[in-house]
Amino acid sequence: MSVRVVARLRPLLAQELEKDIIVRTDSVEPDKPPTIIKIPNPRNEAEEFSFTFNGVYGSETTQETLFTAEVAPHIKSLFQGLDVTIFAYGVTGTGKTHTMRGGMKLAERGVIPRLLSGIFRRGKKIMKETDGETTVDVALSYYEIYNDKVYDLMEPPEKRTPTGLPLRAEANGKTVVVGLTERACEDLKDFEKLYIEANNNRVTAATKLNAHSSRSHAILRVKLTQTTGNMVRESTASAIDLAGSEDNRRTDNGKERMVESAAINKSLFVLSQCIDAISQGAKRIPYRESKMTRILSLGQNNGITVMILNLSPLRNYHLDTLSSLNVSSRAKRIEVREIENEVVFKQVPRTNSAQAAQRQPLKPLA
Ligand code: ADP
Ligand code: MG
Repeated sequence: MSVRVVARLRPLLAQELEKDIIVRTDSVEPDKPPTIIKIPNPRNEAEEFSFTFNGVYGSETTQETLFTAEVAPHIKSLFQGLDVTIFAYGVTGTGKTHTMRGGMKLAERGVIPRLLSGIFRRGKKIMKETDGETTVDVALSYYEIYNDKVYDLMEPPEKRTPTGLPLRAEANGKTVVVGLTERACEDLKDFEKLYIEANNNRVTAATKLNAHSSRSHAILRVKLTQTTGNMVRESTASAIDLAGSEDNRRTDNGKERMVESAAINKSLFVLSQCIDAISQGAKRIPYRESKMTRILSLGQNNGITVMILNLSPLRNYHLDTLSSLNVSSRAKRIEVREIENEVVFKQVPRTNSAQAAQRQPLKPLA
């Protein structure tokens, strides 16, 4: 099992009036690609925190660049039978949905449509190369976890059972969602139709509960089946747009939002513990402690996990950004910030010590 944790800093948006950028990228050496995110210490702005990742993508990074670097290489592994899991983690408004789903324009498409496109392309190639002896089938499931309950997004919201779908442990140790719809998918057009429909279900369901879809985890599961004679090879790719990691205790919210927050915090906490444990090669991965990590059997099978931490550059996200960095980064350092302004030496007239004492700056209140 391998895991990569990478950070993506989004650009300032046209409509953003606040332009106080406090997050920046850095590299270990001038010519190396960035691997460091820097942010001021909110308690002492003379200090800066540095967080190290396996990869860092600055605000100019295109959808294509991110996909090519972090997702495309794993499509081959998926066809070799490995499970591939891609998470987008971060505060609401930092670009998780942009990263995973993206926009409608071709260049703006996110990880998910590009992944599907790559899978279909490779599948077709294999069928052609084997003269149809190997068949490749793709089936989609799409569900969300809201308040620790699992809901099928391929079903219209009025068909939902309030208790959600049950989980069942299989003999092979994997956990399955009982009764989850699986739709066969022939090509990208098929996929897009299903995906749009399911995303609409997600928004409608959230609205009914007077909630927001950013308060649930959305999980797209792509099941790949390759059949040659009586040999079957099955693997899955999961693409997850996680619920916002912001701390809702900071904003005055009602009881319902608090229940949501508790469920989100717990699952995100378990997720980060699993990622840590996997990356340290630990024997025990605490994946059973949340539904999301259980369903993904995180760390229980041979596979590849990529966590993308989405970040906003702005000061008004400061505390939430810091806590998401703390949860997801592999290493943190504190350093005194370099002085950015040129130091100018002024000639100071000589004074006696009494005058000098008067010039002592006022001490800030403790
Ligand atoms: P989240 O899903 O984390 O709440 P969104 O993906 O909805 O955040 O992003 C918030 C806003 O920022 C959206 O308007 C989105 O289009 C824009 N955005 C996010 N990342 C980028 C990016 N890399 N380039 C351009 N716009 C972006
Ligand atoms: Mg979103």
